[in-house]
Amino acid sequence: RSRILQPAAERRPETHPLTWRLRDDGQVVNLQDYQSREGYLAVQQVLNEHDPRAVIATMKQARVRGRGGAGFSAGLKWSLTLQGGDMPRGYIVCNADEMEPGTFKDRLLMEQQPHLLIEGMILAAFANNARYGYIFLRGEYVESARVLAEALVEAREAGWLGRDIAGSGFDFDMAVHTGAGRYICGEETALLNSLEGKRANPRAKPPFPGQSGAWGKPTVVNNVETLCNVPAVMLRGADWYQGLSGGRTEDGGTKLYGASGLVNRPGLWELPIGITGQEILDRAGGLRDGRALKAWLPGGASTGFLLPKHLDLPLDFDTVGKEGSRLGTGLITVVTEDQSMVSLMRNLEEFFARESCGWCTPCRDGLPWTVKLLLALERGEGQAGDVELLDKLAADCGPGLTFCAHAPGAAMPLQTALRHFRHEFEQGVHYPKGKAHADPIPVGE
Ligand code: NAD
Repeated sequence: RSRILQPAAERRPETHPLTWRLRDDGQVVNLQDYQSREGYLAVQQVLNEHDPRAVIATMKQARVRGRGGAGFSAGLKWSLTLQGGDMPRGYIVCNADEMEPGTFKDRLLMEQQPHLLIEGMILAAFANNARYGYIFLRGEYVESARVLAEALVEAREAGWLGRDIAGSGFDFDMAVHTGAGRYICGEETALLNSLEGKRANPRAKPPFPGQSGAWGKPTVVNNVETLCNVPAVMLRGADWYQGLSGGRTEDGGTKLYGASGLVNRPGLWELPIGITGQEILDRAGGLRDGRALKAWLPGGASTGFLLPKHLDLPLDFDTVGKEGSRLGTGLITVVTEDQSMVSLMRNLEEFFARESCGWCTPCRDGLPWTVKLLLALERGEGQAGDVELLDKLAADCGPGLTFCAHAPGAAMPLQTALRHFRHEFEQGVHYPKGKAHADPIPVGE
């Protein structure tokens, strides 16, 4: 099984918030291991010595940004729940429905560091005045479910969950809720509907979950990796966390970055946020068999293609956003010169079309139509105007035109592929003999 890969020699000089308590053999960090590495110390200190507002202020100061892919300020998100005063009793929900193609960071965190996640959730619950939490777990993550279930028993028996945690008077408990394997359940409001036993259609935002979430109560939905950052931020402070990025970017901390596709050593590494794509590919041992890089997705299928010239940019939320893409999950997928963009896009759009919940028309009808066009272009049977039609279908899925980010996520790789590699799509258009056209590229004759 894969593990969080980072040679000990590389890890020693820097103290990273996630890896500092990992075992070198990649096995589960059980309660005893975790406590011997300062585990639950942050809970003990924060619950007894601080108030929720101070915790939120620290999160803001540390500039912790959501690691699910969007990079929204975690501290700002947390400040919504207390707007109704100290009374609301809402929920903490961990979004562990990791299903972004090419992404496997949360699975490895949960399989190795279940207590880090539990501790992060306790701290988040304290800051947001919640008394109950759920880990909404991707159905296929059977091993994560097993590891988490064991860790929850350990934590409860040790008094880290339940009544009067660490003698602070604060009560909190939590459970794992397993999804049924739908990508749309990772969209936070669809997730909340699913948690409530309803069909997983996204809800309109606002209200944001922090205002009205699970069962109408203020609810914080955070990604696994985001929550795993919280104990270290609380223990070491905002300045320490901010300093981990080493001045590469204004964001704080480290990030789990990874690489997959035709690289020599696919893997996952905890690195300072703002490291470059080149440095990640170097860790992955470069491309296989001397292949040349054509393009890369910086963080999953719902991000935009970047080019080799972008490899030296800092991989942080703002910089990648300025290049017409987004950081997403930070796990790179490489595309090599010998791979067809049309086939790749057909594959990705088939995924997005299949996973659409069918709520909004551009997504429900536009994505299958997109797949049909891509299939025709892939076979060299496209018709004149098909490439322009792809432009239009992608534009119809743009931000603000659908309830959630599913369709815009499907549009982004397509739009960037059309922008950078249009000739590959045009090569799939079949022009009948003798018919006038502007720029003929006959295929299959
Ligand atoms: P979003 O930008 O709409 O929201 C991000 C978060 O910020 C949400 O929790 C939202 O409630 C909060 N937020 C946004 N504006 C707010 C405001 N004004 N006040 C309070 N809170 C606010 O993005 P999204 O739809 O939640 O997620 C899209 C991202 O998900 C993409 O970047 C994609 O990379 C990522 N993604 C990840 C996976 C995965 O498996 N990890 C899968 C699919 C997509």
